[in-house]
Amino acid sequence: MRANCWIEPRKVRVEDVPDPKILNSNDAIVRITSTAICGSDLHLFNGFVPTMEKGDVLGHEFMGEVVEVGSSVKNLSVGDRVVVPFPIACGRCAMCRQELFSVCENSNPNAWMAEKLWGHSPAGIFGYSHMLGGYAGGQAELVRVPFADVGPLKVPSHLTDEQVLFLTDIFPTGYMGAEMCNIQPGDVIAVWGAGPVGQLAIASARLLGAERVIAIDRFEYRLRIARERAGASDTINYEEVDVHDALAELTGGRGPDACIDAVGLEAHGHGLMFAYDRTKQALKLETDRPIALREAIRACRNGGTVSVIGVYGGFIDKFPMGSLMNRSLTLRTGQCHVQRYLRPLLERIEKGEIDPSFVITHRMRLEDAPQGYDLFVNKRDECLKVVLAA
Ligand code: NAD
Ligand code: ZN
Ligand code: ZN
Repeated sequence: MRANCWIEPRKVRVEDVPDPKILNSNDAIVRITSTAICGSDLHLFNGFVPTMEKGDVLGHEFMGEVVEVGSSVKNLSVGDRVVVPFPIACGRCAMCRQELFSVCENSNPNAWMAEKLWGHSPAGIFGYSHMLGGYAGGQAELVRVPFADVGPLKVPSHLTDEQVLFLTDIFPTGYMGAEMCNIQPGDVIAVWGAGPVGQLAIASARLLGAERVIAIDRFEYRLRIARERAGASDTINYEEVDVHDALAELTGGRGPDACIDAVGLEAHGHGLMFAYDRTKQALKLETDRPIALREAIRACRNGGTVSVIGVYGGFIDKFPMGSLMNRSLTLRTGQCHVQRYLRPLLERIEKGEIDPSFVITHRMRLEDAPQGYDLFVNKRDECLKVVLAA
């Protein structure tokens, strides 16, 4: 089959690779009809995630048709059309029983690698390094899906691929980012990053009743989409104004009730702090650039919540612990527990409360994946989200 493979930092290539096979009785093989490139893939692309190997098949946002099932699979049959959550979860361990699917204790065969870096291992993730299981991803024609009775959700035929594809990751992720804010009537939520994840966090904050949602980015076209499509009430271009002051001004001096970091470890910035982080990251003295995170913590109102859905990999510097502690802030975070949100969010799509496909700007073929990465990573041609269809 054809698959988009990681070759080396900043290089991916579509290659011939062996077809996946059923390895365990609870596996299924899915023929992919649509797949997408995620901001998390950019961290792999840019070489910030260790334990990637030449030839690894990328991709963790995918859906398609079941073409084969293992002997113990009960909930799926050949021919079913499914969306597949990006974290791989067994559904039975202590974490899965608490619906903490992205920290499943049974799905990462390389847990020892993650334990070295993080103390304990989270779940395995499709197409996301050997440290997170070494699973082949879904930017491919076919994929092996373990625990097939647990993750995949059948989707109704009247909904298009584009309407349901983002149930695999960015819609639940944005939604969880907003849910962690415990939004109350009248709340003001600020969202750093107007990428696809930020857009769906903004839209979700609206669904959950936020009175105002403020989007922060430097790309005007992304801020425009945040206002016109996601429902942001205000936008801040951080290259034009001081974010802290602008947020204080918009909130009577108090700061937003909750702040969502939808940027993660590759934050961009300007001035001394950005130069500091970029240099330390290049010298491997710090793994991540927490520019948006620092700003989110400092901007948040006293007693408010900072919700981190942007991905971090390792260690950060100059973390404003004093601001967090002295002002009674709550910090919440996690890779999304996608399985938890599949049904309720599918229901919202079916009811017409939201159509997450508004983030799509580029539709391409799997063969064009390298060009898709180039557009997305460089924010060329007003790129917001690339979908690769079969
Ligand atoms: P993206 O790269 O398109 O979006 C990031 C946005 O942040 C860009 O628009 C960029 O201009 C903006 N940005 C950079 N520095 C900023 C700063 N200092 N202040 C404000 N904005 C800034 O990627 P995406 O697909 O939207 O993903 C965003 C993050 O979410 C990534 O870190 C990704 O890994 C993460 N993610 C997490 C989960 C999860 O389960 N927690 C799931 C999917 C993606
Ligand atoms: Zn993702
Ligand atoms: Zn589990």
